[in-house]
This record gives sequence, structure tokens and C-alpha cells, in this order.
Amino acid sequence: MAVEYRSDTYRALTRPLSDVLDGATTKALLGLGLVNVDDLLHHLPRRYLLGTDTTDLASVEVGSSVAVVARVRQVRRREGGRLSRLEVQLTDGLADLQAIFFGQERMIEWWQRQLSLGVKGIFVGKVSEFNGALQLTHPDFVMLDEQGQIVGFASQERQAMARQVRRGSLVGIYGATAKLPTWRVAECVDNVLETLQGLPDTLPAEVLAAQGLPDLISAFQAAHHPLDWAERDRALLRLKFDEALALQLTMAYRRQAAAANLAPVIQRHGGGLLAGFDARLPFQLTAGQREVSEVLFTELALPRPMQRLLQGEVGSGKTVVALRTMLAAVDAGYQAVLLAPTEVLATQHAATMRTLLGDAANGGTLQAADVATEVVLLTGSLSAVARRNALNAIANGAGLVVGTHALLQSRVEFANLALVVIDEQHRFGVEQRSTLSAKAKTHPHVLVMTATPIPRSVAMTVFGDLETLTLTELPAGRQVIQTTVVNTRVHPTWLNRAWERVREEVDKGRQVFVVCPRISAKDDDVFDEADPGWRASAAVEPFTAELALTLKGLRIAALHGRMSADVKAQIMSDFTAGCIDVLLSTTVIEVGVDQPNATMMIVLDADRFGVSQLHQLRGRIGRGTHAGVCLLTTNTLPDSIAMSRLEAVANTDNGFELAEIDLQQRQEGDVLGNAQSGSRSTLRLLRVIADANLIGCARLVATQLVASDPECSDPRLADLVSFAESRSADEWLERT
Ligand code: ADP
Ligand code: MG
Repeated sequence: MAVEYRSDTYRALTRPLSDVLDGATTKALLGLGLVNVDDLLHHLPRRYLLGTDTTDLASVEVGSSVAVVARVRQVRRREGGRLSRLEVQLTDGLADLQAIFFGQERMIEWWQRQLSLGVKGIFVGKVSEFNGALQLTHPDFVMLDEQGQIVGFASQERQAMARQVRRGSLVGIYGATAKLPTWRVAECVDNVLETLQGLPDTLPAEVLAAQGLPDLISAFQAAHHPLDWAERDRALLRLKFDEALALQLTMAYRRQAAAANLAPVIQRHGGGLLAGFDARLPFQLTAGQREVSEVLFTELALPRPMQRLLQGEVGSGKTVVALRTMLAAVDAGYQAVLLAPTEVLATQHAATMRTLLGDAANGGTLQAADVATEVVLLTGSLSAVARRNALNAIANGAGLVVGTHALLQSRVEFANLALVVIDEQHRFGVEQRSTLSAKAKTHPHVLVMTATPIPRSVAMTVFGDLETLTLTELPAGRQVIQTTVVNTRVHPTWLNRAWERVREEVDKGRQVFVVCPRISAKDDDVFDEADPGWRASAAVEPFTAELALTLKGLRIAALHGRMSADVKAQIMSDFTAGCIDVLLSTTVIEVGVDQPNATMMIVLDADRFGVSQLHQLRGRIGRGTHAGVCLLTTNTLPDSIAMSRLEAVANTDNGFELAEIDLQQRQEGDVLGNAQSGSRSTLRLLRVIADANLIGCARLVATQLVASDPECSDPRLADLVSFAESRSADEWLERT
């Protein structure tokens, strides 16, 4: 659907290029993915060339692209085999520079005719060094007469080049195509900029003044032809700010609109499931858990949908917090659903609920307590009969529903869903959140939980419609996990010592995780070409037999993602029951698995994992009354970056610090995640991590703008929002 813009400037920016440029040019620009005026103006130079007014031969530097006006001082022709060489000495009266041309006889002659002694021309190229002298290899050139006019025949492209490089500024060099060389792109930009002259800015003057930003048209001008680097940086800042503000403004109006939606009022009362649960709880809630719960309960009691992101360190006890909100919903007569990323985790959550609720979880049966509800587990691996029963129970209003992606299927219908909880959000996209929310008849309350710390700027961009809560404190008595890096290249025998240590733990009645990066030897590995001693990483399947030999007499089981759900669940329950001493697995245990009796973890080839991933992994141990030991083994070079990352994991137990380290290594796309990649397509120049400050600033400005214009009656703001929405490719912004 075409967007109707209210301001002339937005109408001008969104004009198709075909309105402004000729058909052939428009088609060529389409080849670069550029459709409208704004697209072309955001097609920024890849690099810049110093224009003729800015350059003299005495100041050229190796590696820079330059355009110089110079005279031919000397021409030398050297005959070669198939190719001859023409050496042209150029001078601007102060200094010399050599230009070199290689080619066949015919070409050399043509060049020689053009470049006769004493003539003047513009030479454009990249400066290199040869035998200690600076030179231009195959510069583009046009010859000039004494008045500075082009002499002889010059193609359209050459003429464009001459016009562009004679500007007194940095000249943009663009990503171009064979049909549309950089000089033509530059001319298109000029033409398009011309159509914007005199139009008012897209942002209120007060905002620009407060942020010290240039007006939009100057910013476009300066981004393409800056006078100097500082001017270009200010221009980029303005363009990025517009992107950040458009996004934040959209989110702010969304939050405002969401707050106007009606949601079920969930009030706490004594004597319900929640009170019974609290009374049975085998531990004291931490201060953090209590504070976060209070915020959540307060919001659940309001008639508008709660939208919360709960971040918390691994093991900080988010599940209990979530369960309590779910029970409050059931007490108020509604259903609550918990979406988990894996079968193992969903099964575990259901079991935890049943244990902690006791008789109160037997709703609908004869054993039920006076106040009771039903816990229904729905996963992909249920038998047909079990699935039908689960679906019926959900449709008939079972209070507590837990499951995996299976919950998202259209056959799943709720009677009166009021609260959606999503565990370990980084595994899910915004899509899934809204699919589940859409199953409620009114807008449900939403609680999203994540143990992977999300930097503020990412949270504000990806989860911009959610308000963040953080659990920093770990429950008292939580055991320290001592993490040690074992470099087997430096200390080959230490691994044997590690296996002995495993035996000692098991002798004490504890359990151990051994984690491998791969399932089978055929799975992809991360090859490090800088390391001549590189070897393939450990894999669960081939390593199982070897480990059984090393740890003869211990009960060992393997677990990985390619096993059937039944087998996985059986192994997990055997492990939880203590029938398995050593669990050899992949990262299937990374997320949320809770086995208090597990005290030791050995991560094989730990350098193959991300820093945050290792932090998540070790969060699986030390959850009970015994201290935990985590060994990160690696065969990497002792002075490698990989080694220093492992040492960072060993030296800090702060997940937020580790997330920062992770971010430095990762690409933007990884951070936003596949499911959230839609947001990237809406961002052009803005980088969520690098521009964190800018995003924070834009968020503040957006909040103020929405407060002073809640109806969005300023056409500029309305257009900014429409523009951001029209650019959100997979419509993720459309959902709340
Ligand atoms: P996470 O935040 O990583 O999801 P969990 O909710 O799985 O952490 O909690 C980890 C473990 O800590 C669980 O065994 C849970 O029962 C326990 N736990 C939660 N809160 C407390 C508390 N206040 N005191 C002691 N143990 C707690
Ligand atoms: Mg958890």
C-alpha cells in the first residue's frame, strides 16, 4: 500500500527516480537497488577523491585517490614484448608525478598523440609507489585547453569526470556498474539534490539545534561532496540520527498505542494457587526476585497489557518469578502459557511446576486440592492421542500451559489466555511472540525472559516495544564456579588429570557434563588457517566410545540434537534421576537445564564456542549446594585471540561483561539474530552496536516528542513514522 506523505519534503524524497532522471539512467540505478530519491541519496560514496582544487603534486600521498591538473613534461616510450609502456612525466610547476600506461602498439600510439609535450590535462587515479617514486598507473584523463575547456573528443563519462573532480572538495567515488560509472552516479546525485533545494527540513528546528545537527539537505550535500572530513562526519551523524529517531519514534507511538489496549486485570489475592506456591517454596526469594515480582504484579493489575523483558544472569532464578506471575493469572481465572526453546527445557519447566504445586497441579482429577489447576505440556513429540488430550485441555481452559514451538500451531486454541511468558527469547523471534499473543482474545500481558545479556542499544532496537527489568543478584548460597582454561598444546597431560578429577566427583556422588562442539566428525568445524597445528574439534558420536574407555566403570550417556525427542527426554530424566554419571553432549544443555547435583563441566575445544555461550554452559553447574568446577580445554595457540577470550571467561563471572566481549567479535547480523533480521533491512547507515549512544539519544528525543505530541499531529513526525514503517521489510514493526 502506497504511503501518503503529508510534507513536501517526504513527497520529494520518496519520488521514484524515474520522475527525476531519464529512463536508461533510472534502469541502471535500479541495478544498484536504488528506486527512489532517498535511496540514491543514501547511496553514499565508498571513498573520496581529492579534487583538483584540493591537490597539488607536492602533497599527494601513496594510497590516496587524486585528481590533478598537470602538464606533460616528458614522454618516454619503452618497447616490450606484447605490451609496450608509456611513461609520462607530469608536473604542476612545483612537483612531478609519473603516469604509466601499458598497452598494445595501437593504444600506446593513441595515448602518445593525446599526451604530447606541454599539454595540460586532468589526471585521475590512485597513487602508488614504484622504485621509490610516486606514480599513477593508467590514470583516467582528459586534456584541457588554456581556458580549461576539454579538447578533442571526450566521452560522456569523461566529461562527467572532469566536471566532478574540478569541485573544490572531496569528490565521492561510488559503488557503480559497467553501465553506470561512478562519475555518472555523482551527476545523478547532483540532479536529485537539485530537486530538493528550498524544501523545509524533515525534523523540527529545535531538535536539530539541541542535537547540534546540520539540516538535511546540507547533510546530503556534505555526505556526497564534503569540504573536509569533519563536515562529512557531521553529515553522517545527521543521517544516522534520522534513522534512529524514526525507529524510536515508531516504537514510542507503538508503546503509547499498546498502553491504550485493554488487557485482563490480574489482581493478587490470598488463598489462591500463588499463596500456596509461595508457602511451599523451599527457599527465600532474593530481594531482586521480590522487587521484579512487585513491578510485574503491579502491571498485571492494570487494564493495559504488560510488555516486559526480564534479563537476568544465568541462575538468577527467573523461572520462579515467571511462575508466580502465571499463578496470579490462573488465580484470577485466566490461562497462562510458557514458551520454551527446547523440548528438554519445556519438559523440565512442566516438571518443576508440578513439583512446586504438589496437589494443586492435579486440577480436573480426583486427587486435586481445593484450589487446583492443570499443568499441560505440549511439545512436538507427543503421540497423537496425547496431543489431542493436550489440545483439548488447553481449549477447555487448563491454567498452566507449557511447551515448545508446537504451541504456535494454528490448532492450538486457548479458552481465555491472559499471560504469555517466553523463556530464553534469543531463540525466538518477534514473530513467534506475536503468533502466541494472537491466540488470546484480548491483548495478553507479555513477559519475555533472557539470560543472554542484551546491550541496551540492541534491546532498544530489537525489543523497543518492551521495557526492560533486570535481575542482577544470584540466590544466596549459590556456589562459585571455578573456571580454568586447560591448554592441551602447552600441557598435553593435563587432560588426563581432568578425567581423574571427573572420577573423583562421581565418587563423591556428583554428576558431570562433558560438552563437545560437534555431533559427528562430519559436521562443520571452524578452521584456523593461522594455526599450522590446527586439529579438528571433538564430536559427541566418535568420542563416546573413547570416553567410555577413559572413564571405565562410570555410567556415561550421550545427548545431542539429532536424537529423537523421546530419547532425549529419557536421557535427561535419567540424568536428573542420577542414573547417569557423565553426560556427554552438545550445547543442547546450554539453555536453562537445571540439575543441582551436577558439579563439574568439561568443555572440549572450548575455543569453538562463543564467550556468552560458554558462560551459559557453565551456568548449568554449581546450582546446588556444592561448588562447581568448569574446565575449558583447548588446543589453540597460547598467545592467540581465542586463548585470551577463554581466559576472559575464566576470569569473570559477569555475563554482561562477557556479552560485551562477544559483541566485539561478532557481526551485527549475529547480534540481531536471524529472527530479528527484519530490523536490519530498515537500517541503512545506523549500526546498532557502534551507534549505541546515538540510539539512546534518539530514544530520549522520541519520548519527549511523543509526550508533547501524543496525537502525532506534526506532519513531519507522522511522515518520519510512516517512512520507517514503509521500510520495515518483513513487517516486524507492525506487530506488538
Ligand atoms: P535462570 O534465571 O537461569 O532461568 P532458574 O530460574 O532456572 O535460573 O533458577 C536456577 C535455580 O535456582 C533453580 O534450581 C531454582 O529453583 C533456584 N532458585 C531460584 N530462586 C532461588 C532462591 N531465591 N533461592 C535459592 N534458589 C533459588
Ligand atoms: Mg531459565
